[in-house]
Amino acid sequence: MAGRWYSETKILVGGTTLIVKQVKFHGSPAVVYQVKNSLQTARDWLRCVLPEIRTNNRQAYLTDPLSECFKDPPDKAAALSTIKAVLTTIGLELGRNLSIKVRTSANDARPAAGYVRPYFKGPREEVGGMIHHTEKGQEIHRRGDIHLDKSIVMTNLERAPVVLIHEAGHKFINLRDFGPRGYFNRDGKGFRADGLTWQEALQNADSYGWFVSKVFRKKTQKRSRPPVFS
Ligand SMILES: [Zn+2]
Repeated sequence: MAGRWYSETKILVGGTTLIVKQVKFHGSPAVVYQVKNSLQTARDWLRCVLPEIRTNNRQAYLTDPLSECFKDPPDKAAALSTIKAVLTTIGLELGRNLSIKVRTSANDARPAAGYVRPYFKGPREEVGGMIHHTEKGQEIHRRGDIHLDKSIVMTNLERAPVVLIHEAGHKFINLRDFGPRGYFNRDGKGFRADGLTWQEALQNADSYGWFVSKVFRKKTQKRSRPPVFS
């Protein structure tokens, strides 16, 4: 069915194939270019950030985003090891061939920056608060393409990779949403509502997306500062 309504453009990104699906007759090469850009950016961020996630790394570029995005987890070492495992999976999956659907969601009943359709029903097993398997041991993830909102892809180069990491978190490792408590404001400054707990934060898709962005920013800002000689 989908093939009737969406056109597909296949391009190479860093040796992997990216398929960009756009609504037929409404597609443009500019959208393909920006999706490629977002994917490359997300990959670059993850490549930079993942090696920094170490329990003995006390640098503010890591610990500040950890406190902010993951709500001051009492056991920082345990939190960092969960975060590293989740982001490693997301990094691996975003490093493979990928299919991304771009559409305008402004007219939807619930406009979204992005989404992936959930399909799991029935029994599930939670591991560390995260849904991993059905009782039969079958792995669960969200079915189908990552969807990204066209206006974000086209206009918000900072937020598009965040949304991509967020949606990859839903698709590949069953991260969740917690409504306004779990969503950051559009500019990434603070949550839309108070009340997310640190336990919830470790399952919260937006926490991971913005964490990667914030660590990357702080880390690279630090590096680009001119050296001080004394
Ligand atoms: Zn979500």
